[in-house]
Amino acid sequence: VPGRKPLRLAVLGSGPAGFYTAYRVMHKLQDAVVDMYEQLPAPYGLVRYGVAPDHPEVKNCQDKFEEVASSPRFNFIGNIDVGHDLPLTSLRPHYDAILFAYGAAEDKRLGIPGEDLRNIYSARAFVGWYNGLPQYAGLSPVLDAVEEAVIIGQGNVAMDVARILLSDIDALRKTDITEYALDALSRSKVKNVKVVGRRGPMQAAFTIKEVRELLNLPSVSFEPIPSDLLPPDPKKLPRQQRRIAEILAKGSPTPPSAATKSWAFRFLHAPSAFNPSPNNSSTLASTTFNLTRFTPDSNPTDRSARVESTPETVTLPSSLAFRSVGYKSLPLPGLSDLGVPFDRRMGIIPNDLYGRVISPEIGPGVLTAGHVPGMYCAGWVKRGPTGVIASTMEDAFTSGDVIVSDWENGVPFLKNNGEGSTGMGWEGVRGEAEKRGLRRVSWEEWKRIDEVERERGRVKGKEREKFTDVRQMLEVLDS
Ligand code: FAD
Repeated sequence: VPGRKPLRLAVLGSGPAGFYTAYRVMHKLQDAVVDMYEQLPAPYGLVRYGVAPDHPEVKNCQDKFEEVASSPRFNFIGNIDVGHDLPLTSLRPHYDAILFAYGAAEDKRLGIPGEDLRNIYSARAFVGWYNGLPQYAGLSPVLDAVEEAVIIGQGNVAMDVARILLSDIDALRKTDITEYALDALSRSKVKNVKVVGRRGPMQAAFTIKEVRELLNLPSVSFEPIPSDLLPPDPKKLPRQQRRIAEILAKGSPTPPSAATKSWAFRFLHAPSAFNPSPNNSSTLASTTFNLTRFTPDSNPTDRSARVESTPETVTLPSSLAFRSVGYKSLPLPGLSDLGVPFDRRMGIIPNDLYGRVISPEIGPGVLTAGHVPGMYCAGWVKRGPTGVIASTMEDAFTSGDVIVSDWENGVPFLKNNGEGSTGMGWEGVRGEAEKRGLRRVSWEEWKRIDEVERERGRVKGKEREKFTDVRQMLEVLDS
């Protein structure tokens, strides 16, 4: 639009959603300036703190993010927890638009008795622990007391947890897994892992790559799946399901006689209670499941087949359990001050699927009519916590594209008391942040932390040794 100042965009969150949207906007609007706020001094969200350490190739997207961050039109504002430490309203006067890309900060619970017993861990906490997320660095899961572990949930995160528990420790040494996790895993006594789901093998959420990797772990055997649970004629199934059925039927190349550890699936098991130990009422001893069966109208080979409970129960000994049934986004404090709603049931910021935040009054079918001006979202907080980095990228590109087209079409952006934004971005917010004693970490400063992490890794023959404490990261900068 002639005469308009360059777009000044605040991005909240530095995971794939934040970075890919920033990339798209900066690429299409050659004068747009992006300030990316991140609660930790380190960027990349779940790419750094979720993706399994033995999958380094998945982290290659960081190269793209670095390229974005190297632009003079990009500012990283790390170590600022927006909404908690810095009110959202202090951003408002200084930006044309705000993109919410803050991911999913909680895990879903099962809502069954005993869920708070000791030795039950959420996958989010366990993954955060081995990946060095400061919030969970002190988790100290008890791995050296028991042989039997149960993982509830059958998605790829459950597969990651199982693989980390069952992997040969030497296979993890060169990765960026934290030193304390290596130490605890090397003392782990866990030998048998059961990965449990409510439905059948054709409904499970894991992907072929992840299950194959687990089946091919050296010295780990797999308990064959009862043949009545597998489709009788896989050739008739769609390709993806056929391959899963074939891989599961083939099982592991390692016979039990050559294995030191084993794993198994349990299908058609819905957890109903975690049971305490008779000797210690605060510690988990076993998990009870209601057996389920397919509803009469469901075809067990359909991905969407449904199940119903039966009266039968099964109790699995499990002094160690992991809950891996998904993540959940939370509303940022102060969202409503910006007129931004939050759908607690869906765990998302209501949006028009393109990425424009919409106010709740809006009826169906009038997609952009209820747009809250200047407010956009992307990633897990937009779609819900599902999907991989590639799908998050697609989604972020869509959000980036609507920001650009709205901007180019003269759609109203943030109105600040009837005026446009000051366009000052971080320079305008900074005073408020400093008044609150916040210390911003810039991209150059993150690179220094990054270099020290790599150096700490080099001496141990690892990719990097992460700092797991924000204080230690800041000490690198202040030394
Ligand atoms: P996130 O990556 O979670 O990024 C959100 C960012 O916002 C974080 O950096 C967070 O610190 C920041 N933030 C939160 N609150 C605030 C605040 N108040 N102020 C400032 N910043 C804030 N995908 C794959 O393709 N391959 C894999 O191998 C893979 N492994 C995975 C393993 C696990 C355990 C999980 C959970 C996911 C995995 N995924 C994988 C999926 C992938 O990580 C997600 O699709 C993607 O990270 C979602 O991106 P996002 O930007 O929406 O959220």
